[in-house]
Order: sequence, then C-alpha cells, then structure tokens
Amino acid sequence: MKRFILAGLLILFIVYGCGQRFPSKKEFLMDTEVEIILPQGNEEDFTAAFNEMRRIEKLMDIHDPESEIFRVNKLADKEPVKVSKEIFEVLKRTLKYSRLTSGAFDVSIRPLSALWVGKGKLKEVPEARKIEEKLPLVNYKNIILDERNQTVEFKKKGMALDLGAIAKGYALDRAIKVLQGRGIKEALINAGGDIRVMGERVWKVGLQHPRKENEVLAVIRLKDQAIATSGDYQRYFIKERKRYHHIINPETGYPVTECMSVTILAPQATQADILATSVFILGSEKGMELIESPLKDVEGIIIDAQGKVFLSSGLKGKLRINSKI
Ligand code: ADP
Ligand code: MG
Repeated sequence: MKRFILAGLLILFIVYGCGQRFPSKKEFLMDTEVEIILPQGNEEDFTAAFNEMRRIEKLMDIHDPESEIFRVNKLADKEPVKVSKEIFEVLKRTLKYSRLTSGAFDVSIRPLSALWVGKGKLKEVPEARKIEEKLPLVNYKNIILDERNQTVEFKKKGMALDLGAIAKGYALDRAIKVLQGRGIKEALINAGGDIRVMGERVWKVGLQHPRKENEVLAVIRLKDQAIATSGDYQRYFIKERKRYHHIINPETGYPVTECMSVTILAPQATQADILATSVFILGSEKGMELIESPLKDVEGIIIDAQGKVFLSSGLKGKLRINSKI
C-alpha cells in the first residue's frame, strides 16, 4: 500500500509495512509539511513531538527577534554573545563538519544566502558586485566559540549565521528523543522529505526522481535510521536556461552546479541533513570520498549534473534504480 504525501517533495511516498495504516498527524512547520506516524502513540505523544519541533523552529529562526540566533547575528560581530548550551553544542557540531568538508559546509553562509534566498528572494541573480562584497564575510574559521564562557563571537563585522541546512535534521532528532523519553518504541517523522525512523520496524520510502515530479527513482528501506536529501529541484528558479537554487558554494558565492540530488542515510537526522548539503556542494568525487570516509554507518546516493547515479559501497547491489535520469 502506498500513500502520497505531497507531490514535489523530495521523498514521494511512504510504504507502510504489511499494508497497515498507522495513526498519523500532519502539521505545517519549518516551512514544510511534517508528518508523524506512531503505530502505538496517543494524542499526547503526537503533541509532545510537534511541540519539540516547534521549539527548535523558534530556537533557530534567524528572522525572529526573540531567537538566540537573531541575537547572535545582531551582536556577535561586536562582542561575545552568551548562548544556551543547546545552541553552543549545535554550533560546535557545525564547525566540526566545516572542517570535515574543507569548508563546503559553512554555517556563516548567511551574508550570501541572504542575497539569494532572503525573504521573498530566490527569483533573480544578485549583482556580481554584491556577491564579491559578501564573500569575505563567509568563513567558519572566523566564528569563535568560547567553551568556558559558552559564548559566540565573530571576527569580522557583518558576519551572520544560517542554520537552514541543519534545522530540520536537528528538529527530527530532538522529536525522536522526546518520543523515546515517553516510552515510544516505534515512530516515523517526515519533515518534507527528511525522515527519521525509530524502532525495529523496516519502513520503505520512495526517492523522488530529480526531474520528474511523480516518478519514484528507488525504494529505500530504513530501520532505526535517518535519510535526508538536498536537491536543486525544490527551491530554484531558471534564468537564461541556467538553474539557480538555494545551496551555495562558500568559495564562489553562487549555487553549486555539480549535482541534481544527494541523498544521505545516517544513524541520525542532523548528520544526514548536514552531509546531504555538504556532499551536494562537494560533488560526486569528493562527496563520495566523504561518504566512504571513517564516518560510521553513512551511505549515499549522488546524482550528478549529467544525471549519472553514484551509490556508496553499502548500497551497491542492494538498491535498484528504476529509471534513467
Ligand atoms: P532543504 O532546506 O531544501 O532541505 P538543505 O538541507 O540542503 O535543503 O539546506 C539548504 C539551506 O542551507 C539553504 O536554504 C541555506 O539556508 C543553507 N545553506 C546554503 N548553502 C550552505 C552552505 N554552503 N553551508 C551551510 N548552509 C548552507
Ligand atoms: Mg536538508
């Protein structure tokens, strides 16, 4: 039995085990539709999980004057800003991945992403001069985290953070944690195609074809795992036959053109979310190297700009790709 979630999302449908239909709820948050499925959950469990995701949405909202991130972006280029343990740990994690990806993943991307995807943007190419101007402001090495005082400081005036590539994954992990704390043994949470499943059950999800909205490229089996996809086909515009989207190379200031889609499987959603964005930027060669590096239990599917599909070693021979790109 299959059921469609929403056309246009990265993961198209979820196939339920043995045709069963489990209790599920949907809410719109983090700019996408979030579905929670709890085979044995009650009303309060759903509420607790959605509440936790809303808390993370608020915590990481760069436009909300009451969020910590807003305060950091406003002040950290002038003075060290004290943050909660939670935000401090998240930032530490992002820096770890910046080092791991040689800076492809950079949480200080905001000055550039504001040009491309700022409120109501992602319609036109910013002036080259403006991109040039913002480039020197994007560099994770200029973020100073002081462990003892739990503060964040920027070395350059005008720097700012953007947690867009981590927020959904982190919210998924947090919501699963909350459910575990309530004694829940099985769950699936889908945040617009980024999914984490918990428990012994095997769930099947369909991976969307990057150029044909209603076609399923492969059916992926998940067990106590997370999956995240970064693609150039969900948030983009086309100008003079060129496709521009929301994942930006910190070195050039422009959207990367190496891949159409990158899907990462990992034990946790935060890691899957970060890696999907990172590998998308690194491209098939360096990206696959990262997937195959000592990162534990990480697998990936890369579709490059020419439509060539690359599978990581753990998926080769196991995953069937249904059609040509
Ligand atoms: P989606 O939000 O569609 O799931 P991603 O998880 O790949 O896609 O995240 C894309 C977002 O990440 C962008 O909207 C932007 O906020 C942020 N971002 C863009 N480029 C980078 C980058 N090089 N490093 C870190 N974050 C980035
Ligand atoms: Mg993502």
